[in-house]
Amino acid sequence: MVLISLTCPTCHETDVVKYGQTSDGKQRFYCQNAQCPRQTFLQDYVYQGKIPEVKQQIVDMTMNGSGIRDTARVLHVSPTTVIATLKKRTRTSVSESENVVPCTTRSLPCRTQESL
Ligand SMILES: [Zn+2]
Repeated sequence: MVLISLTCPTCHETDVVKYGQTSDGKQRFYCQNAQCPRQTFLQDYVYQGKIPEVKQQIVDMTMNGSGIRDTARVLHVSPTTVIATLKKRTRTSVSESENVVPCTTRSLPCRTQESL
């Protein structure tokens, strides 16, 4: 048996377990940290800014009043990534922004408050 030192890419906890495989045979892992907004992840994500989920978090945090640097720090991406993501989102997110839900009614924990 081989033990891999593995951490959750979102909360960096080591409390992760194997959680089946993706359709293309990659090992999926499950984060057992109850505070963590991420539940499953793959081992070979290299950079968080590339993950669609993180891009959505960037948009969500910005709409909830976090600055670009706050967002970058909390999500462990570069401020440049935050800006680039927001620029790409500008045209497509117009209709989404009308449906902004307050943090408290979301199923995910609100990361914005932790950064304050
Ligand atoms: Zn986690």
